[in-house]
Amino acid sequence: MIADLFVEESPARRYLSLATAQALACNRCGDCCDSRRAVPPGAFTWGSTDPYLYRDLNHGETLVWPLGAGLRPIDPAAHVGPHVGPFYCAAFREEDGLGCCRLYDGQRPPTCAGFPVFYSDMAERTSEDEPFTAATGSLPRCTWFRVTVLPDGARLLDPVASALDSDGTYVLPELPPSMLDDLAAWVS
Ligand code: SF4
Ligand code: SF4
Repeated sequence: MIADLFVEESPARRYLSLATAQALACNRCGDCCDSRRAVPPGAFTWGSTDPYLYRDLNHGETLVWPLGAGLRPIDPAAHVGPHVGPFYCAAFREEDGLGCCRLYDGQRPPTCAGFPVFYSDMAERTSEDEPFTAATGSLPRCTWFRVTVLPDGARLLDPVASALDSDGTYVLPELPPSMLDDLAAWVS
């Protein structure tokens, strides 16, 4: 079986054009806003947080709180410098089981507005040589979990061309099952 040649992830990684990736809808799990909600708890997406950033967006109070042992908030006054680790955002609320952002219609930190595939420079970040992989690898409930963005026309978006090298030999890209079916039919 050709499928046996590929290292499988579950769910399989999806290779999408930028337009397709951006057309997906956030499921409002809220895992990217509060590491305590994430599965597993403690997973986080921001590279680092600083409790003194974005206070202007939260009436002068800390907006993005670092979490320490036991996922308990760290007192900003006792914290010096950037925090690399779990966090929660004071603007996050849950309503009827869905995540809500109190700042959504106003001004949010730039990281929030761009995450995970909506950064203003997405077109520049995405190339066939260096596909853009959404920073959702620690958030399996996220809509964009295991999504990699490719530019329009990229070979990997073509199930047949992406599996053949220039000399006609097979290469082993990571392909979703739908592409594997097409490939199996083509070589049979
Ligand atoms: S500002 Fe809104 S989107 Fe950003 S982390 Fe807080 S709740 Fe989430
Ligand atoms: S983790 Fe993904 S799906 Fe969940 S709220 Fe954040 S962006 Fe939306």
